[in-house]
Amino acid sequence: MTIDFNKNKDGLVPAIIQDYNTKNVLMLGYMNEAAFKATKDTKKVTFYSRSKQRLWRKGEESGNVLHVVDMQLDCDNDSLLIFVNPDGPTCHKGSDTCWNTKNETQYGFISVLENTITSRISGNQEGLSYVASLFEKGINKIAQKVGEEAVEVIIEAKDNNDTLFLNESADLLFHYLLLLQAKGFKLNDVVSVLQERNH
Ligand code: AMP
Ligand code: ZN
Ligand code: ZN
Ligand code: ZN
Repeated sequence: MTIDFNKNKDGLVPAIIQDYNTKNVLMLGYMNEAAFKATKDTKKVTFYSRSKQRLWRKGEESGNVLHVVDMQLDCDNDSLLIFVNPDGPTCHKGSDTCWNTKNETQYGFISVLENTITSRISGNQEGLSYVASLFEKGINKIAQKVGEEAVEVIIEAKDNNDTLFLNESADLLFHYLLLLQAKGFKLNDVVSVLQERNH
């Protein structure tokens, strides 16, 4: 990897930090040659901090270290893309990414679906949506639905019909998201538990 550290007069190149699993862009920092070497040697993202004017290993105080999985140079060797596994929220303001200022987690379409569910159950809808009517029946009914869909997934897993299997899987995931919200949670709460276990 031959990085063009001389393109900018200050000897710094921008490093885009991307979550290896979620693909979320976590933050942007700058590296000089020493920072890049430290990053490569320790496999922990180390920037040159323009405000601190020294090498700054991300997470040195917070513990929210960024573990390097892979690094790529761009087309003209003057910017880095670094894939990482973060130990915790990357932004010092507490959210997962520095662009997620409202601290919403981003699971693509699943997050869109979660937000739709939230708005359906907050009841600003004309008439009663399926989600709202299921909510009115209470947690036991929703939990039972999850159980039923899980059984249907089991049944279809034994068949060779991929379409049915995927459809029942979608039913299960959807009702599971509903159950999570009925209990006051979102998918990210479960993901956090999984990440904790991964340590
Ligand atoms: P940390 O490297 O996480 O221990 O944070 C140490 C300090 O670096 C914080 O108090 C902030 O001043 C700064 N900092 C940490 N994370 C970020 C970030 N994602 N963007 C900008 N500044 C940060
Ligand atoms: Zn470039
Ligand atoms: Zn930030
Ligand atoms: Zn079903």
